[in-house]
Amino acid sequence: MTLKGTTFNQQVAKLQLEKIADLVVEENAPLAPLTRMHAGGPADILAFPYTPQSAALLVGICRQENWPLTVLGKASNVLVADQGVRGVTLMLSPSLGGITKDGAKLTVGAGVPLYEVSAFAARHSLSGFEFAQGIPGSIGGAIFMNAGAFDGSMSKVVVRTRFIGASGDISEIAGDEHDFSYRHSYFSVRPDTIILETELLLEPFSSVLIYEKMAELAERRYKTQPLEMYSAGSAFRRPEGYFAGKLITDAGMKGYTRRKAGVSKKHAGFIVNYGGASAHDILQIFRDVRRAVFEMEGVVLEPEVRLVGEWEDDPFNMSDDR
Ligand SMILES: Cc1cc2nc3c(=O)[nH]c(=O)nc-3n(C[C@H](O)[C@H](O)[C@H](O)COP(=O)(O)OP(=O)(O)OC[C@H]3O[C@@H](n4cnc5c(N)ncnc54)[C@H](O)[C@@H]3O)c2cc1C
Repeated sequence: MTLKGTTFNQQVAKLQLEKIADLVVEENAPLAPLTRMHAGGPADILAFPYTPQSAALLVGICRQENWPLTVLGKASNVLVADQGVRGVTLMLSPSLGGITKDGAKLTVGAGVPLYEVSAFAARHSLSGFEFAQGIPGSIGGAIFMNAGAFDGSMSKVVVRTRFIGASGDISEIAGDEHDFSYRHSYFSVRPDTIILETELLLEPFSSVLIYEKMAELAERRYKTQPLEMYSAGSAFRRPEGYFAGKLITDAGMKGYTRRKAGVSKKHAGFIVNYGGASAHDILQIFRDVRRAVFEMEGVVLEPEVRLVGEWEDDPFNMSDDR
């Protein structure tokens, strides 16, 4: 198979990658069940690294052979194309795990789910990570996106991050170098970087009060978000001076449904898959919502969800593709 100036042979790739220790490699692997959106096609090659070294070796081979490489954390913020993902998909969660503690500092593997870190911190009487308990991503994906909720965000707790850089070497950045701002980080503008591990600095606090806060936040989330549905969380970024959910409600799109996808009736900011929707059906909801909000409110909504795999040009255009 020839891909944009590179030759990718799936069997050759599988044989070569299978030689790497601590790496699990699958061929033609369905991605839909691994994503929170529950849609989309297979990965030619899907690999789970159990050590930073195995991830680095895989990345080195992909770059040397010029094979397309896609990185996923826990796939809670992505929409995978129906045609799937060509080349190699490196999925870091849950395999690239591990949490160690040194005083109030936690060192966490990129693939560790956020809820596991919140639970670990609470158990060790460390506060500052309660906000992340209900976000269904991995540490790596949360740093990439600068995930946040309620009064917390990754920018407040991350102090140092190790990653595979564009050169293929393992590097690290600290403090302000993370360049965190709203759903933005050093990594989100450098698609050639792969987060391996991070250090979080938390604060000693009463375990009981931490658990109380986590329970309160979980209840707030449960009451306001369609957690029982397939979705990728907030579909759109918060436009300056507005709330996406309110704009979508005001444009009459709350509860809007087309085929097997739609806008949640519980939270207009969430686009949901009612079960069995194609990625194309889901993308069409994004387009319909963007068009309605632009026509009714004059605001252009920018997607927060990331597209993965083979998509047409300008996929989020506002056309009505019946
Ligand atoms: C029900 C629900 C509620 C949500 N609530 C919130 C919320 O309150 N706040 C919030 O901010 N988000 C929320 N989200 C969105 C999502 O969970 C977060 O953005 C999360 O941080 C994504 O992490 P992930 O591991 O799933 O990343 P993925 O979806 O796997 O990937 C997202 C992006 O990060 C990149 N990436 C992932 N891991 C790495 C890595 N190790 N190195 C380099 N790049 C990487 C991917 O290439 C991709 O571009 C919610 C989602 C759902 C489904």
